[in-house]
Amino acid sequence: MAILVCGGAGYIGSHNVRALLARGEKPVVIDNFLTGHKPAVPTDVRLYEGDMRDPALLDAIFSEQHVDAVLHFAASSLVGESMAQPLKYFQNNIGGMLALLEAMSRHGTDKIVFSSTAAVYGEPDSVPISEDAPLRPTNPYGESKLAMERIMHWVGQAYGIRSVILRYFNVAGAWPDGSIGEDHRPETHLIPLILQVPLGKRPAITIFGDDYPTPDGTCIRDYLGVMDLVDAHLRALDHLRGGGESTICNLGNGEGFSVRQMVEAAQRVTGQNIAVNVGARRPGDPARLVASAERAGHILGWRAQAGIAEIIASAWAWHRTHPNGFAS
Ligand code: UDP
Repeated sequence: MAILVCGGAGYIGSHNVRALLARGEKPVVIDNFLTGHKPAVPTDVRLYEGDMRDPALLDAIFSEQHVDAVLHFAASSLVGESMAQPLKYFQNNIGGMLALLEAMSRHGTDKIVFSSTAAVYGEPDSVPISEDAPLRPTNPYGESKLAMERIMHWVGQAYGIRSVILRYFNVAGAWPDGSIGEDHRPETHLIPLILQVPLGKRPAITIFGDDYPTPDGTCIRDYLGVMDLVDAHLRALDHLRGGGESTICNLGNGEGFSVRQMVEAAQRVTGQNIAVNVGARRPGDPARLVASAERAGHILGWRAQAGIAEIIASAWAWHRTHPNGFAS
């Protein structure tokens, strides 16, 4: 039986496809290549090129493949862009989810693992953030993911589709041999941008504000290795296959690092000095986001293993060998 990976050519989707193959599963991929990369998908994986909001394409996939479960990564995911183009985010993300759940119910597929985000919480009252913290997204991206979660809840109740919703904190790093990794255009994430300095692609990293109420004044985030994230998805799949109930789990290390600490760690990993500028705050950035991942421990038996040095080292292995990403 196949596992349908929606957005399997993207950063997180492509790492999951590789891991599914490695444990003898049969992943099949749908991707519209708006942000995904064809070379990220192994050539022996069946790839359907097109948009998830196309019911005929979904019907063709579900008819041709015996889809046991879905891993759903396909979404627009840039916070800044979502503020400027909210309708794009609601159309694409919510529209894709509706079409997918309709196809699943038509074809009798009853298990889904969904990539959600810490952005559903917005500015937290306190950290670490647990799954029952208030849900107050501060941008359309987080709002669209929260709407997708709620849709899954009601549709699941009506049609018996069980789900594991995984709320990621800051995902980073790459497949350990550096053969696939992160390639966003434009790149907005901290670790790839820091590593562009030792790569000679930018003169310095700009820290977005050093006047936050944190020990060194820079924002604190919970960085999670992509291989740990993949492990959580495989465990979520096993949970659903074993008859487990629908659940929502945060995924993070449970430990926070400041932007300055990340720059220092990258200096140690690369052995190079990384120049820093301090710029203005980025609108919408909370001072401190750290996960409580206890529930993922209880329900999925999951715990993040990689620390920031390992995460940055794997990202460095990818970027050093692919300075132009998948276009290298
Ligand atoms: N950040 C920064 N400079 C950059 C990019 C990001 O100082 O060029 C900071 C950002 O303000 C946040 C942290 O790094 O505090 C992580 O940002 P990223 O965009 O990677 O992830 P987010 O937390 O927005 O999901």
